Amino acid sequence: MLTSDVYADCFAEVLRRASTRLPRDVVEALRRGREIEDKDGLARAALDTIIANAAMAHAKDAPICQDTGTPVAWIHYPVGTSTRMLRAALEEAVRRATAAHHLRPNAVDTVSGRNTGDGAGRGIPAVHFEEWDDGAVGIELILKGGGCENVGVQYKLPDARLGAGRDLEGVRRTVLDAVFRAQGKGCAPGVLGVCVGGDRLTGFEESKHQLLRPLDDRNGDPELAVLEERLYDEANELGIGPMGFGGRTTVLGVKVGVLDRLPASYFVSVTYMCWANRRARARIEEGGELTWLN
Ligand code: SF4
Repeated sequence: MLTSDVYADCFAEVLRRASTRLPRDVVEALRRGREIEDKDGLARAALDTIIANAAMAHAKDAPICQDTGTPVAWIHYPVGTSTRMLRAALEEAVRRATAAHHLRPNAVDTVSGRNTGDGAGRGIPAVHFEEWDDGAVGIELILKGGGCENVGVQYKLPDARLGAGRDLEGVRRTVLDAVFRAQGKGCAPGVLGVCVGGDRLTGFEESKHQLLRPLDDRNGDPELAVLEERLYDEANELGIGPMGFGGRTTVLGVKVGVLDRLPASYFVSVTYMCWANRRARARIEEGGELTWLN
């Protein structure tokens, strides 16, 4: 059985990697966006800056953005491993990554307004646990920026304003409305994590979980796959563009998950992730080795 200290070291490494390296598929999507923007326009200039910034962060092992976001983790653990120990290890990892300047001290006491100073706080990091039949511990992590979190939105269908009923056409209308309302705030081009169904809590949780999917991951449900592609095309036809400067690159991807719901409710939860779509997946093997999964 590994010690909490070993897990803290491994989790700190996962935090470092997520904070300093933009996933390759995201960089490639940004490059493709650059190619389709007007040569002398602000959209292309913004994407050039973003791409150069990501390369510098990687080279210097420095955070991609000044806001290193909220660490949100999904931890898979073997039978018999203490989730209390793993939670403490993740909190310690946040403190270590913050002390090493891979994370910004990003936790503020909501009542006093004082920064906790070490990156950890009540509810920060956010962590979800799931037991699995494997001797290793798995971690999936996103660093969720604050600016883009501010433009996330949850809809309750039916929605008369949007003419959105309780079906996938209604879902389509709400997601496009979310992108339109954001108008590039939250640092477009971003990735949309969507959950159809669930309740107000689980809907947002699942919408964030969708952000772990690589951009080229095709939804296993044919209807949702079509919806994701249509939303991607239509969001990019809104003309909002990078940072709201106008252009063809408003979103880099749309990922839609589903949870079952109560008869009385039909929620659509939209989490907006900025271009700094930081994610990492890894396993901590039984001997303590760290294996990257993406
Ligand atoms: S929304 Fe994202 S890119 Fe913009 S400041 Fe926040 S973390 Fe950085």
